[in-house]
Amino acid sequence: MEVDKIYPPCQKCSKGVLIPLSDYGREGATIIFKAWVCTNPECCYSLRIDNGEVSIGKVSNHSLK
Ligand SMILES: [Zn+2]
Repeated sequence: MEVDKIYPPCQKCSKGVLIPLSDYGREGATIIFKAWVCTNPECCYSLRIDNGEVSIGKVSNHSLK
C-alpha cells in the first residue's frame, strides 16, 4: 500500500504524510479521523479535532524534551 498516495502530504515538512487516528466517543461510537499525525518523526506535526475545534501541535508538544 502506498501510503503517500492515499493520505495528504504534511504541510509543515513536506516529507511525511498525515495519517488519521481514530478515537472513541463517550457513547462508544468510533470517531474516525479524530487526529492527524505526520509520519516524519523529525516533524511531529499533529492536528486534532475536539468537539469541532481544531488544535494544532498540542499532541506532540509533550514529547519534546
Ligand atoms: Zn511533517
